[in-house]
Amino acid sequence: MGELSRIWRESDHRYRLVAHECGNCKRIFFPPRDVCPICHRDSIGKMREVELSGKGTISSFTVVHDSPRAFKRQRPYVLALIDLDEGPTITAQIVDTPLDQIEIGKRVHSVFRRIHEDGPGGIIQYGYKFAVDLS
Ligand SMILES: [Zn+2]
Repeated sequence: MGELSRIWRESDHRYRLVAHECGNCKRIFFPPRDVCPICHRDSIGKMREVELSGKGTISSFTVVHDSPRAFKRQRPYVLALIDLDEGPTITAQIVDTPLDQIEIGKRVHSVFRRIHEDGPGGIIQYGYKFAVDLS
């Protein structure tokens, strides 16, 4: 049981996609914003946290062949524009998916990855990526 419950516990804290919903117009923003860009002053104090499902649909994508040296081992990689079910559109890397399975209109779900660790015992950074729902 140990390993699984540990992963589950960590997911409570780090592995969440948190957005802000405007209490005025009900639009959802990711990344979170303190003020709604549509309602401006009317939204002040009315933005609240909502957790996104991490589910969405690919609306466009590009295969990236050049990348910074730090990411050398990952190239080429796929960046996609994803329409999240809750409304926001985000750009994210597609992982765990064969290239020929990446198409516009495919359903995706979020996965979380360790991005890098600042030396032994250092700060571990996590980030969201997406994978195509393979059935
Ligand atoms: Zn608003």
